[in-house]
Amino acid sequence: MPQHESQFDFDFIIIGSGFGGSVSAHRLVEKGYRVAVMEMGRRWSANDLPRSSWLIHRWFWRPKLGLRGFFNMRLFRHVTIFHGCAVGGGSITYAATLLPPPSKVWESGSWAGLADWNSEMSQHYETAARMLGVRENSIIGPADRLLQRTSEAIGCGQRFFPTYVGILEPSHGEPGGNAIPDPFFNGEGPERTTCTACGGCIMGCRFRAKNTLDLNYLYLAEKHGARVFPETRVVDVRPMNGASDGSAGYAVRTITSTAWIRRRPLRFTCQNVILSASSLGTMELLFHLRENGALPAISNQLGKHVRTNSESLIGARVPGCREDLSQGIAIGSRVYIDEQTHIEALRYPRGSDTMSFLSTILTDSRPGSRRIVLWLRNVLASLLRRPFKTFRLFQPFRWARETVILVCMQALEGEIEMHWCRPWFWPFKKLLVSRGDKVPTYIPQANEFAKKFAQVAGGTAMSTLPEILFDVPGTAHCLGGCVIADSPARGVVDAQQRVFGYKNLYICDGSVVSANLGVNPSLTITALTERAMSFIPHLSKAPPSAPQ
Ligand SMILES: Cc1cc2nc3c(=O)[nH]c(=O)nc-3n(C[C@H](O)[C@H](O)[C@H](O)COP(=O)(O)OP(=O)(O)OC[C@H]3O[C@@H](n4cnc5c(N)ncnc54)[C@H](O)[C@@H]3O)c2cc1C
Repeated sequence: MPQHESQFDFDFIIIGSGFGGSVSAHRLVEKGYRVAVMEMGRRWSANDLPRSSWLIHRWFWRPKLGLRGFFNMRLFRHVTIFHGCAVGGGSITYAATLLPPPSKVWESGSWAGLADWNSEMSQHYETAARMLGVRENSIIGPADRLLQRTSEAIGCGQRFFPTYVGILEPSHGEPGGNAIPDPFFNGEGPERTTCTACGGCIMGCRFRAKNTLDLNYLYLAEKHGARVFPETRVVDVRPMNGASDGSAGYAVRTITSTAWIRRRPLRFTCQNVILSASSLGTMELLFHLRENGALPAISNQLGKHVRTNSESLIGARVPGCREDLSQGIAIGSRVYIDEQTHIEALRYPRGSDTMSFLSTILTDSRPGSRRIVLWLRNVLASLLRRPFKTFRLFQPFRWARETVILVCMQALEGEIEMHWCRPWFWPFKKLLVSRGDKVPTYIPQANEFAKKFAQVAGGTAMSTLPEILFDVPGTAHCLGGCVIADSPARGVVDAQQRVFGYKNLYICDGSVVSANLGVNPSLTITALTERAMSFIPHLSKAPPSAPQ
């Protein structure tokens, strides 16, 4: 903890401004610390967000190609990972579904037995839900009604629910789009607008109706003194003043993430560092720092126990559908089709059709060459029998209006590992590479559900091309890699999220999650960070406290 405030530029430097980073920033500023948040992505306002995914340069993040958006997709041998990259982290692109996991997740994985999780976490889930403005969704769009009818058709009607979301919805009977003063933090927060049900959550909310972190945790942190450095990528974190365990502080080096040539290298000093760069970002940085000798004592469990929520993306397209399936909120409803399997109805806003290039006709059977042959046969048969309908299924325009994506998640154990090596296809540089058993891309009960859904909707069941061709599932929920455990032999951080082998070094993001949650993880990452921050004491000279 800081003893000589003036010795360092900041008391805490937080790397990444997603759920872990923004919660940490708010709670630490509240406790009186001088906080900096380094964020690789850009700062977005409602006015600069793209109207549709065709504006790829404002949606996709690949700065070396001139793409400076807030959404990234990374391809690995075992999984395609979708994640956010912006001031506010994944919250800018997330669907705002905020669900607690089943209580049994605390009894599996390497965190089991390290705390009385179920009783401790309930207060942190409550705080997280209050801060993120979680409410039961009351906007039931056409896609949700189809999900409900399908659930009833397979006898799961009683397990169909509206989702819990962090979205400012209009009161019953109001049309939405009304500007109102901050309804969440006793007027301390920014002005907001009620949801218009445009289905645009995933493309970034252009109405300030979605409860993104830059409107709650991070907003309050900045208001009370935290400094946020956008477009600033951390490339080095090193113990300083001769104390190799970090007890005398750290030097943090950054470069401008969006520049090709003038990358403006900067150096900051701080007493404490919090890594909140997301599961992938934190693993990547720590592998690099262990290898370059900056943090050589990081546990060799780094990169182990990476989980994907056992996700599979399926869905249905209804060419010529009279209703606009994109209307509503991104994920308005969900159903448990069995104990382990949770399905949500997801949509993109009208006009955001580029994801159609990843979608194809659903094909059953176990992955492998047999499934590819079956898929080719299905596509050919469809082309020969109904050429016009097949053309309408594959052409991109109106895709968002005519499609419902079904996000299927399973709370089953299953994990991969990430390694740091030079892959054969890019020997110039070390990169994260996935290893281990394949994550299943074929969930038979999910495929059956998609077929039923398509039948109810009068459309065709769909799947994703990488799942069929390469047996690679897609996930927006990459978790783990720096899991909580009792020792460095089993994990990277302890139960208070302090990095084994170092002082004043913490990890607060999805990488610490130590079991398969089976539901969307952001509420859990927020609650875990609330818990981790509760162990850090107040500084005596705390500023007037910010809202709880
Ligand atoms: C399309 C989509 C929809 C989603 N919908 C939902 C949903 O409805 N509900 C839900 O619970 N979850 C959802 N998620 C997942 C959710 O976004 C993530 O689980 C969550 O954001 C992870 O939080 P985090 O704190 O671990 O990291 P993030 O929120 O990803 O934040 C990490 C930040 O660190 C930054 N960073 C990385 N490396 C560096 C570096 N070296 N220097 C500086 N900055 C760095 C990144 O730019 C990023 O902004 C969705 C994800 C996607 C992609």
